[in-house]
Amino acid sequence: MAGSIVLFGPPGAGKGTQAGRISELTGKPQVSTGDMLRAAVSQGTQLGHEAKTFMDAGLLVPDSIIIGLISERLKDEDAVGGVLFDGFPRTIPQAEALAEIVSVEVVISMEVPDDSIVERIVGRRMDPQTGEIYHIKFKPPPEGVSMRVVQRKDDTEETVRSRLAAYHEQTAPLADWYSKRGLLMRIDGNGSIEDVGNAIASKL
Ligand code: AMP
Repeated sequence: MAGSIVLFGPPGAGKGTQAGRISELTGKPQVSTGDMLRAAVSQGTQLGHEAKTFMDAGLLVPDSIIIGLISERLKDEDAVGGVLFDGFPRTIPQAEALAEIVSVEVVISMEVPDDSIVERIVGRRMDPQTGEIYHIKFKPPPEGVSMRVVQRKDDTEETVRSRLAAYHEQTAPLADWYSKRGLLMRIDGNGSIEDVGNAIASKL
């Protein structure tokens, strides 16, 4: 299997927003564990049911569930040339499990200070028809779309604080883990969507 790319960073860093462009540039399909879990929740599957309590509380879903989900997804034909992981891995055991099944060619670390995260997440909206992500201030949905955008249930200020705490405790140590393996590429994520996208594109 050809190399995969990992999009790494705190919640609200813009991973999902940049994923489309990187996916187009590289031809690698986006694999977002958050999107897969939300799909399982809305379909009412057993896995969705198990994951929901953790997600609503802003906690990480147990590694065993996530690793199972990813192993299944990587069996799909479109994963053969490597994929673009968005929101995975989020713990060292997940990264270790991933290293057993694919080769990671680069980890793009989108760095955004905590102060900016809350504003970004609380203003975030999604178009349920296209999956496109908007922001009430930074990327307002066009007329016609603004009527139907929705806010994620875990995008409230209170839940964001828990998600940030989970990020600092469990996910941030992965930056060092990947850095030691020579795979970490740091990107200043605290700019406009276009500037951050250009910074990533110029380095890929
Ligand atoms: P996201 O859309 O990536 O922010 O993910 C939303 C929520 O899904 C997170 O707050 C976690 O509860 C759960 N989740 C997504 N990806 C992972 C992962 N790799 N490991 C553990 N939990 C995850």
